[in-house]
Amino acid sequence: MTESQKHFLQLAIELAQNGMEAGHGGPFGCVIVKDGKIIGKGSNSVLKNNDPTAHAEVVAIRDACKNLQHFQLEGCEVYTSCEPCPMCLGAIFWARPSKVFYACTKEDAADAGFDDDFIYEEIKIDPTQRKIPMLNGMRKESQKVFELWKKKEDKKVY
Ligand SMILES: [Zn+2]
Repeated sequence: MTESQKHFLQLAIELAQNGMEAGHGGPFGCVIVKDGKIIGKGSNSVLKNNDPTAHAEVVAIRDACKNLQHFQLEGCEVYTSCEPCPMCLGAIFWARPSKVFYACTKEDAADAGFDDDFIYEEIKIDPTQRKIPMLNGMRKESQKVFELWKKKEDKKVY
């Protein structure tokens, strides 16, 4: 890692500590950088916002996209204090930054009581057999909306 990459990762770590000490949520922080400038940042805000999706990466992605006035993070780098959980991993792939740097590993997170390994296990299981059962129904009715989407002429493909 370069000195500037270490600098941004250190800022993510500081956000993790500050957010935790402020009682906003768990010890996780994230900084998003484009062309050497910070365009988004966040710390875990699950407790502060009563939002289970307010992980540091998601908070930072929302902040960066708002600042960029765009729904994707092309050419951006994500610096996060810990290896992303499955939800954040998904959010990162949807946001499409160019690179992710992380400090702590998911094993470190599990050791601190943040074990997301069960989610990876759940992904592999048949939806009906998951701890939260996922049940399929009314497929044909819902497919009609996809048909409308396919025919929609003024859609913005993303
Ligand atoms: Zn996460």
